[in-house]
Amino acid sequence: MLRQGERKGPVREWAGYGEGTNVSAVAGGAAIWGRAEQQDFRARVRGCLLGGAIGDALGAGIEFDSLDAIREAYGQEGVTDYVPAFGRRGTVTDDTQMTLFTVDGLIRAQVRRDTGAWHPPTDVHRAYLRWAATQRDWGPDERRKDDGWLAREEWLYAQRAPGRACLSGLGDDTMGTLEQPKNPESKGCGAVMRSAPFGLLVGWEPQLVFQLAVECAAQTHGHPTGYLAAGAFAVITHCLARGEDLDGAVQKSLAHLATRPGHEETTEALKQALGAVRQGMPTAARVESLGEGWTAEEALAIAVYCALVAEDVRHGLLLAVNHSGDSDSTGAICGNLLGTLHGETALPPLWLAELEGRPTILQLADDFAMEMTQGPALHGPGNSAPGWLERYPRG
Ligand SMILES: [Mg+2]
Repeated sequence: MLRQGERKGPVREWAGYGEGTNVSAVAGGAAIWGRAEQQDFRARVRGCLLGGAIGDALGAGIEFDSLDAIREAYGQEGVTDYVPAFGRRGTVTDDTQMTLFTVDGLIRAQVRRDTGAWHPPTDVHRAYLRWAATQRDWGPDERRKDDGWLAREEWLYAQRAPGRACLSGLGDDTMGTLEQPKNPESKGCGAVMRSAPFGLLVGWEPQLVFQLAVECAAQTHGHPTGYLAAGAFAVITHCLARGEDLDGAVQKSLAHLATRPGHEETTEALKQALGAVRQGMPTAARVESLGEGWTAEEALAIAVYCALVAEDVRHGLLLAVNHSGDSDSTGAICGNLLGTLHGETALPPLWLAELEGRPTILQLADDFAMEMTQGPALHGPGNSAPGWLERYPRG
């Protein structure tokens, strides 16, 4: 069990294991991160978060519709643009909201490390508790000084059909762990759909990325498929963020999965996605042959399939949302993948322009990229920029 401050235990205790995994620490500051590398990384981080949000928004209006109903309402092609959801076009849902809090938690893990504390699952859990508060409260509580800037973003306090396991898993302060996960039967896609940011930790070893994603998934989804699909998604994203191709990324995730008990369902779903690619032209029927995406392994398989066969971002995202299942989550995961792969400039500009929360998402993406590439310039054990600690408090 990974408890904060524990010094002895299995290989993967966080104390010690994650040392030196900050990109800057590994790379010795900006020395290895040249200008081109920093710009490439930032483009992929922006692409990951904005792409996911666009996919989420494309699916938001048809999440609960069958393919027949979608075609009846929007024509044989299904939706080809944003359609109104929660009262307007371009609205994101819980998938994007939670993903942003994953990013917030990862930045704060790095910032809190200056104090000698190093337990990223705890920081991500605290971030998820702040998300849970957005679903309970009317708006930001200015008295909570430890909230940081993201939890003070008023637009995040909108309820966008949050998943039950996420709400109940974060309904009290106890952190679910792999040994004592929350919702041991849950394998809904609520953990995988928020897990792309773990893959953006490009300076980390892939097995550590996998492990962190899995542990944080178990905070709400305790079924092995629920958390292993999140780990696999994080590893795929990690490979893409490092400039590898999607085929190879999926193969690497399969290798990581194979080492974990209870991986079979997730492995099988990913293999089906790879098999579907070889069957010919992509169609909605082929997407639906992979399931509906309500469960973690199906959502991942659909998103991976659509990203693999995508002619471009637009084509891939429309394929990922026009089916009978959980359209916003499959769209969000596919968008994370395509955005990481191709970077922000590959995203359709009109969809970007109309996207809810774009300023927040951009700001958070850039903060994450700065923290990972130039962290020591922002904070350290001795001196820290007050403005940064205001945004990402250590508490
Ligand atoms: Mg959603």
